[in-house]
Amino acid sequence: MSSLPDFTKSWQATLQWQPTPEQQTLFQQLFQAILMGNQQMNLTRITEPTEFWEKHLWDALSGLAPWLSLESPPDWLPSQLSLRAIDIGTGAGIPGFPAAIALPDWHITLLDATQKKVRFLQELAQTISLNQVKAIADRAEFLAHQPSHREQYDVAMLRAVGSAATCAEYALPLLKLGGIAILYRGQWSDEDSQQLDRVAARLGGQLVDVRSWQTPITQGMRHCLYLQKQRITSEDFPRAAGIPAKTPLTA
Ligand code: SAM
Repeated sequence: MSSLPDFTKSWQATLQWQPTPEQQTLFQQLFQAILMGNQQMNLTRITEPTEFWEKHLWDALSGLAPWLSLESPPDWLPSQLSLRAIDIGTGAGIPGFPAAIALPDWHITLLDATQKKVRFLQELAQTISLNQVKAIADRAEFLAHQPSHREQYDVAMLRAVGSAATCAEYALPLLKLGGIAILYRGQWSDEDSQQLDRVAARLGGQLVDVRSWQTPITQGMRHCLYLQKQRITSEDFPRAAGIPAKTPLTA
């Protein structure tokens, strides 16, 4: 089976962080397990080792850079080390598994609507002993109305799950006050930011940071948007299953 190249220097140069040997082993195990899982179900089309490193591992952790290198933390960063995080629409466990490997103090819930994927994620977490990870099969629209999940998370991550407005509607009800939603996007403009900020305001949030990067190998453009929960979200949100994606909120 193919293995991931050693990208220690690239991690350090781009994110001012580098994995320990144990974390490198876990990345490797994650890669192998996802390749195996791909034979049973459609988890990812990214299977070449370098591409997997850049488009899954590096991309996932680029959004977590504010937590990885704490030299000059932004003022919106939650102050505790041990955070409760949720990866909404996690698919093959990205960005949640890389986050769990890089930030072992975090307690991470992987959420996906597809039962089969969630069974795979649960087994994978057990196999590689990521005991602080659990996986739940549900839709964000339902989970966010359950008292044991609503307003319970410090961090929500969403990558490739829908429009930015849809992601904001899934994430903000799940966050505690002061919690941060990280929305992974490709292209992004100031106009997009203005619209998203107005949508976030309807949900009790504010767009507090937008960071842009080029991926280190193929120089793809990436943006990460950071929404902070500032007020309790109305019980009207998220709307019924399917509605946030079909009719995203507008300003
Ligand atoms: N986040 C992963 C990544 O970046 O590779 C997977 C992205 S995949 C394109 C989108 C995933 O979101 C699918 O696995 C789908 O089942 C899940 N999903 C879509 N809408 C959802 C919802 N409302 N609640 C929970 N999961 C959802």
